[in-house]
Amino acid sequence: APSASPSGSVTPTHCPYCALQCGMGLARAAEAGGGEGAAGVVVVERPSFPVNGGALCGKGRTAPAVLSSRVRLTGPLVRSAVTGELEPAGWEEALDRVADGLARTRAAYGADACGVFGGGGLTNEKAYSLGKFARVVLGTSQIDYNGRFCMSSAAAAGTRAFGIDRGLPFPLADVARTGCLILVGSNLAETMPPALRHLTELKENGGTLIVVDPRRTRTAEQADLHLAPRPGTDLALALGLLHLVVAEGGTDEAYIRERTTGWEEARAAAMAHWPEYVERITGVPVPQLREVARRFAEAEHAMVLTARGPEQQAKGTDTVGAWINLCLATGRPGRPLSGYGCLTGQGNGQGGREHGQKADQLPGYRKLTDPAARAHVAGVWGVDPDSLPGPGRSAYELLDALGGDVKSLLLMGSNPVVSAPRAAHVEERIKSLDFLAVADVVLSETAQLADVVLPVTQWAEETGTVTNLEGRVLLRRRAVEPPDGVRSDLEVLHGLASRLGHGKGFPVEPEEVFEELRRASAGGVADYSGISYGRLVEDEGAGVFWPCPGAGDDSRREHPGTPRLFLDRFATEDGLARFVPVVHRDSAEETDSEYPVVLTTGRVLAQYQSGAQTRRVAELNAAAPGPFVEVHPRLAARLRVADGEVVAVVSRRGRVVVPARVTSSIRPDTVFMPFHWPGAGRANTLTHPALDPVSRMPEFKVCAVRLERA
Ligand code: SF4
Repeated sequence: APSASPSGSVTPTHCPYCALQCGMGLARAAEAGGGEGAAGVVVVERPSFPVNGGALCGKGRTAPAVLSSRVRLTGPLVRSAVTGELEPAGWEEALDRVADGLARTRAAYGADACGVFGGGGLTNEKAYSLGKFARVVLGTSQIDYNGRFCMSSAAAAGTRAFGIDRGLPFPLADVARTGCLILVGSNLAETMPPALRHLTELKENGGTLIVVDPRRTRTAEQADLHLAPRPGTDLALALGLLHLVVAEGGTDEAYIRERTTGWEEARAAAMAHWPEYVERITGVPVPQLREVARRFAEAEHAMVLTARGPEQQAKGTDTVGAWINLCLATGRPGRPLSGYGCLTGQGNGQGGREHGQKADQLPGYRKLTDPAARAHVAGVWGVDPDSLPGPGRSAYELLDALGGDVKSLLLMGSNPVVSAPRAAHVEERIKSLDFLAVADVVLSETAQLADVVLPVTQWAEETGTVTNLEGRVLLRRRAVEPPDGVRSDLEVLHGLASRLGHGKGFPVEPEEVFEELRRASAGGVADYSGISYGRLVEDEGAGVFWPCPGAGDDSRREHPGTPRLFLDRFATEDGLARFVPVVHRDSAEETDSEYPVVLTTGRVLAQYQSGAQTRRVAELNAAAPGPFVEVHPRLAARLRVADGEVVAVVSRRGRVVVPARVTSSIRPDTVFMPFHWPGAGRANTLTHPALDPVSRMPEFKVCAVRLERA
């Protein structure tokens, strides 16, 4: 449990980790009776924040430990030409080296030889400045970020169907009052534990909870019905459910007529997926399919929420699209306590994709290919629209091009050596760069390969906004002084831009950046123009939902923000939602006699993403000290592997060695590995880089492996 609130002053802020962005307070440790605390502060409850009501998971509760970690970087490092080692350097030398490295590349090979790789944990201000830096200072199209590996399939499917991508188009609390919730590929009991209270409330209110997951996770244990499909078959599952809803007369014809378009084609595609065919593909028995279809169609209010399970597939966009079709056919989106939503993962996964660090987008969630969008943003930036580059490569394609077309890379807030698919190959590509600069708080596995490492401030040491999974814009506030020797990412970008002739356009004060971001987003899909730091302070920390247009000339009118989307119309040109006809297809790599087992990857409660921060927290490491592979007892018996015994997991891309956890909570044809660790147990050594044709999401959730006794 979090510490009790002290009587002294508390800085209200938000957790640095996942997209729930739990509200918390940071109190001076001495005042809170918490001894010295980490970095002199302790975490206290902030029950008034509606999303988590004061509850925090262990990651949030222990977050200050990273502030004062003894492995924290407190000075720049530069690789010595003599020793080949990273050695301490001053800031001026380090920034000179980075600016020089990028300038040399640009002069020798052209602007697109400079790459920029961002992160879904960066604040809105940083994401905005990084995108602007790439396009205005470097003039490169080669920028993308690790959010591409997170929820990009849901973003693409949401945009395709509704004309807009906001993870949840309604507040998370609506979940507690719906009648039937299908949760697809989300283990929020471990990834976002405070959100579990909404599921508990849903059940207390008499609602039905259906969980779709190949593992019987802690979340699945709470379900009224748990469907455990074979990984990579969620698309067929959704189509089979839609087939049954149609066959049983469960569609909402008036809604389909009045609020959607494209139904006949989508209906025909679904009707080709007979229940028995779907059972053969998914392994989910027909009676279970019928039960779910009936409960979902009959509920007065119903919703589907997806997470990484269906999204991190090479058919992720169509898979999410199939679940959206099910929602549309039963008349859910835009209706009270109903609809489709995505549980975004990373801390600023939502805001991180709205402000221009994506390969194909400009701030305001504008399309880089739209002439009007280019003109608007170029106007705010004070540059010629024609000088802005076009869309670049997606995250994996960019990493795959390192050392080829892309010779130098500036990387902020990401650790692809651990988190990218086919990670050994990505590591080799990174090593083949002419020049690599990494801004991070610790010497991550990727930073270890850099020519220059720039140590930057953390969440509690800086002010900035983030946008949580509901589209709620929040203010994180500075609560502690950063250590001497570190600078903010905004200062880094300012320092580099100045050296490259553009210092004026890169302020270091977050509020100044936000004011520019407001103007750049005005009139866009994600319109922040009516939001200000002052307003975010005044709203008692509950945040403001975008879109929130500014009042223009009439300063008396303040837009309230938009907690619920689609009530009257969708964000498409004609206001109608789009059905998209989709059909089942195989995963990029199906099992065979050589690789007979499916590997799926995911997360555990005590670690976050590549573990760069959480692996530095003793309490979290004690709870989750290292990688493992979950194996069903039948598969373990066949391989003569005992619980705890070390096994090799081998795919066409590599081999890892980890202890086996024998558990009947997983399908006998599937094994599971969490991906938080580097080295011999790195799960992403095994994963497949096949990409979704629309979202460019890699196939993290499905590949073929074999297990060997090691
Ligand atoms: Fe932080 Fe997410 Fe845990 Fe909340 S659930 S405390 S936001 S990691």
